[in-house]
Amino acid sequence: MRHKSIIEPFRVKMVEPINMTTETERRAYLKKAHHNLFMLHSKEVIIDLLTDSGTSAMSANQWAGIMKGDESYAGATSWDKMYAEINDLTGLNYILPTHQGRAAERILYSHLGGTGKIFISNTHFDTTRANIEFSGAEAIDIPIEQANNPANLHPFKGNMDIERLEHIITKNGAANIGAVILTLTNNSGGGQPVSLQNAREVSEICKKHQVLFVLDCCRIAENAYFIKHREEGVEDKTYREIAQEVFTLCDGAIMSAKKDAIVNMGGFLALKDEELANACTNLLIITEGYTTYGGLSGRDMEAITVGLQEVFRADYLHYRIRSTTYLGEKLQEMGVPVLLPIGGHAVYIDARAFYPLIPVNEYPGQVLACELYLKGGIRSCEIGSVMFGKYDENHQLISSAMDLVRLAIPRRVYTQSHIDYVIETFSFLMDDRNKHNGFKIDYEPELLRHFTCRFSEAKPT
Ligand SMILES: *Cc1c(COP(=O)(O)O)cnc(C)c1O
Repeated sequence: MRHKSIIEPFRVKMVEPINMTTETERRAYLKKAHHNLFMLHSKEVIIDLLTDSGTSAMSANQWAGIMKGDESYAGATSWDKMYAEINDLTGLNYILPTHQGRAAERILYSHLGGTGKIFISNTHFDTTRANIEFSGAEAIDIPIEQANNPANLHPFKGNMDIERLEHIITKNGAANIGAVILTLTNNSGGGQPVSLQNAREVSEICKKHQVLFVLDCCRIAENAYFIKHREEGVEDKTYREIAQEVFTLCDGAIMSAKKDAIVNMGGFLALKDEELANACTNLLIITEGYTTYGGLSGRDMEAITVGLQEVFRADYLHYRIRSTTYLGEKLQEMGVPVLLPIGGHAVYIDARAFYPLIPVNEYPGQVLACELYLKGGIRSCEIGSVMFGKYDENHQLISSAMDLVRLAIPRRVYTQSHIDYVIETFSFLMDDRNKHNGFKIDYEPELLRHFTCRFSEAKPT
């Protein structure tokens, strides 16, 4: 007998109570937060799908590692273990521990960047782009064409456009390219995977032109799952072996351990070239810490080491990807417009299609996010015109390409009944889709406005 049900491959050893709230209470909380979900207190949230970053649950073995943390300033045993683990996984010999992914980005890209330099990616994650642009360099996104169509079912929508890559390198001259960065899975592009074939092609082009090839490998295990199940020629390999093969193609890798290392804080930069590593090590020591801890405690390094082993287990990855897909498929069956195919760490809803009567300049994504909170206490994240919108000279909104709402799933935190509750909440929202009114923004800062801006109803009823 083969079971159809997929169960969480863990038992719960410790529980964290959820503060249950009523719709009336939530209405007051939301008003106090100026309809900005970032400004809610976590105790006002029932199910928090704001992000999968640093929100995962550690295992008993990771917690055991916490107790074994060696807090020596130099040469800690915990570092030896973390080094050995990352070295075995990536095959890269120079490894710099950092307190999170963006610290590794700042170190590498401030060194490689500067005015006149160009970085090319399938899609730069926002902190990646910010670090590159802050150095004075330019960041260009070249996902394949299919990535821009929410309904297209291409199995590897995270792939980079190879022709454009070659063209941009040739046009600008290889010496002006800071690096080519492959983000896998492609977080900003809907958590879509990159194929092994595409990574090989990117690698070949970079080798041919002698351009540095960097992996943004935050979700390398989730990406390996998709490669194993969607690509030919890797059926006999384990997920870890597939990841190791991807790493053989690159010159360096950056990881936010808050994703696939299943910890709450941490990251690293791994490099092949000694000279580049030496330059980065200087920056590491100035701002993060000595080479054998960077921005991390010994206990953090223990937890990362164990997390990097656990994340490649077949039962874990199967549960992880299947449970995200479960949510996406159920929503799709109900007629909720979801971004397809369902990605690895999150389900994305097309809010413009969900609320066709709400004009784009009244932020349909924000309306959906707020309704999910009001009806179910669910916190999601608008990824649309609130986050990326700009104004023209007449202060009219230039909307983003899509108005999405992301339901990001923390690892090992919620059970299927929590997810069923999310699905049920959507069924309430489906009955009430004829909304005309959206939001206007009353206050916004100059940069990264989505974190602190304040909303009110566009046309109060
Ligand atoms: C989260 C993330 C980062 C940045 O990592 P932080 O740990 O949040 O600083 C970089 N790239 C990708 C793809 C990410 O998902």
